[in-house]
Amino acid sequence: MTSIDTEASRYVSFLTEYRVLICRSCKHGISPNGDGIARHFMEKHITMPIQTRQSILIYCNSLKLIDPSNVRIPTMEIERITELESSLGWYCQEQLDGKECGHCCVTETSMKIHCRDTHGWIKSKGVTWKRQSIQTFFQGKLIKYFPVTCNDGDDESTQPLTSVDHLIKSLLEEADERDIEQRRTLNKVSDAQDLVTLTPIPYADTKQVVFYHPPISEGRRPWSHEKNATGFCIGTVGRT
Ligand SMILES: [Zn+2]
Ligand SMILES: [Zn+2]
Repeated sequence: MTSIDTEASRYVSFLTEYRVLICRSCKHGISPNGDGIARHFMEKHITMPIQTRQSILIYCNSLKLIDPSNVRIPTMEIERITELESSLGWYCQEQLDGKECGHCCVTETSMKIHCRDTHGWIKSKGVTWKRQSIQTFFQGKLIKYFPVTCNDGDDESTQPLTSVDHLIKSLLEEADERDIEQRRTLNKVSDAQDLVTLTPIPYADTKQVVFYHPPISEGRRPWSHEKNATGFCIGTVGRT
């Protein structure tokens, strides 16, 4: 190993099996496409001396890195990759083509949406997923979780919930339910008529909007802001 390699190895590590370059400090992969590596250190680690950056680039040029979209994503649980951040998420146990689907995600709401869209899941079917430690090589558009062995730090059961935690958890779960409900309604409206154009509104955003309500007789629950049972009304949407 040259002195350049030694210096670079303090900041990046190369996963030989997957041919992925990991930033040790960010704990996720860096895309080698274009000037991805140079840009990462220029934007995320601005105090790093130019010489160190150059050493990293020289070292990376000697590696056989592949396009992130071609990286093999493990489908079965693997040993946790220590260089990557891990978190506690969910693992889909539905059957797909004669084996477990294995789709992984962070929130239970995303899992419900995945199961509904991919496996035709309905609430009466009950839970068809389980808690799972998960990792992803990359972030952003390239995010793709896979199952890994448990890390003690991921296990929420080691940290008992306080009453405030319980309150926050139940509020979030309630918000999740409303989110799914709202998505269903939006889909129904766009299918059924074109009187209003609705776009999903992020939860962080709370504003006054005009909503079309399908009749409650269709079986949906009334929304908290709702003024009348059917037709249009002015309402506030958001987490509040
Ligand atoms: Zn980084
Ligand atoms: Zn699935």
